[in-house]
Amino acid sequence: METILVKNARRIVTMNNRDLILENADLLIEGNKIFNIGFNVGERADRILDAAGKIVLPGFINTHHHLFQTLFRAVPDIQNKSLFPWLIHLYQMWRQLTPEAVYVGAMVGIGELLLTGCTTTTDHFYVYPKGLPGNLLDETIKAARELGIRFYPTRGSISLGQSQGGLPPDDLTQTEEEILQDSRRVIENYHDSSAFSMCRIGLSPNAPFSATASLMKNTVRLAREAKVMCHTHLAETKDEEVYCLEKFNRRPLQYLEDLEWIGEDIWFAHGIHFNDEELEKLARSKTKIAHCPSSNSRLGSGVAPYPKWKEKKVIFGLGVDGSASNDSSNMWGEVRQFLLAHRGAWGSEIMTPYEALKCATRNGAELLDWREIGSLEPGKAADLILIDTRKIAYAGASYDPVAALVLCGDNFIVDTSVVNGKIVVEKGKLTQASEEKIVEAADHIISTLWMSGVQ
Ligand SMILES: [Zn+2]
Repeated sequence: METILVKNARRIVTMNNRDLILENADLLIEGNKIFNIGFNVGERADRILDAAGKIVLPGFINTHHHLFQTLFRAVPDIQNKSLFPWLIHLYQMWRQLTPEAVYVGAMVGIGELLLTGCTTTTDHFYVYPKGLPGNLLDETIKAARELGIRFYPTRGSISLGQSQGGLPPDDLTQTEEEILQDSRRVIENYHDSSAFSMCRIGLSPNAPFSATASLMKNTVRLAREAKVMCHTHLAETKDEEVYCLEKFNRRPLQYLEDLEWIGEDIWFAHGIHFNDEELEKLARSKTKIAHCPSSNSRLGSGVAPYPKWKEKKVIFGLGVDGSASNDSSNMWGEVRQFLLAHRGAWGSEIMTPYEALKCATRNGAELLDWREIGSLEPGKAADLILIDTRKIAYAGASYDPVAALVLCGDNFIVDTSVVNGKIVVEKGKLTQASEEKIVEAADHIISTLWMSGVQ
């Protein structure tokens, strides 16, 4: 088995149960697992990474994204809109989506995630325009395999079109049969539940305003039969709350609970507007939340009640959300935004820099119920990042170099990233694909599909 020795790291932040941080230590990888961590763990290895001046962390875990949206960043007409008008404009653009755009969008998003410290990402892909092949999710899996990220795509869906009182146009909807059939297909073809799996599948109707009640219920039943997790957007905006009260005469969580959407195999994106009683219910049932602070700020959706989440012991992880609402897939930037947004709202003692890092690592693993990732310990997955602190942006911060990673920072590009024992970022560059070619492909698609008058 191939071995990699990470030698003489300035710090190794293990995120283990004792929150152990080692100084001037080594980490030995054997195959796709961590073999040993400590001092002088060996001299010989197939590859030696000189970690002097570098900090080693578990790779970040991104719990919510729409990778295809990286091709819809900074769209002029919706730069200053809230969720519903923002979506209504984007739906029109998404009607022009192609399989190639889905693939290239995923390459952009995954590339940026890897460069900014993310080693496991989820995705929520839900746009299947009429007339296109139904296997669009496969394009994102192809991109993830090429770039080498640990991937947790969820098969999204839209079934409630405008003619039935939903928000999206009818030609972006699929029938329930089409959706469930393709959900079964992707589970059978791609879901690997093993400990060091590189691809696990989840199922994810888009939201209460774009999926029918019947689809929500049948999706969660199929997921439980197949033993996969379910994901959707919930309690993101007050508009959604009003929509649910008017249309279903229930608050969003009650509506979903009545459709069997509660439990440890469920995670909701956002969860900003849950009340106390609802948060207690989520904590009791171990239903989880993917928190996306940049997106919440960008769309003006609100500030999540982080102090209540802590008090009630709700399980939550961090997510960048789709790049049309962020407009970034910068996982490191999300960690910093997480800290700053909540300090701005609740005061400077609400969160330490270490807690912010923990949320992006340990919490993410707990959310996905994946114990082999999220911390650096012998026997766990060799998913880790190295950050070079010998840069001007970190100079003068030697008092606490780990906190400095969150409080200081430059462009948040990591020095090295290892996923499943394979080096996928080295010296701040992707090793499996050319960044320049990805950028070129993205610009080409945008200029031919969306900037040539088709809007
Ligand atoms: Zn989202």
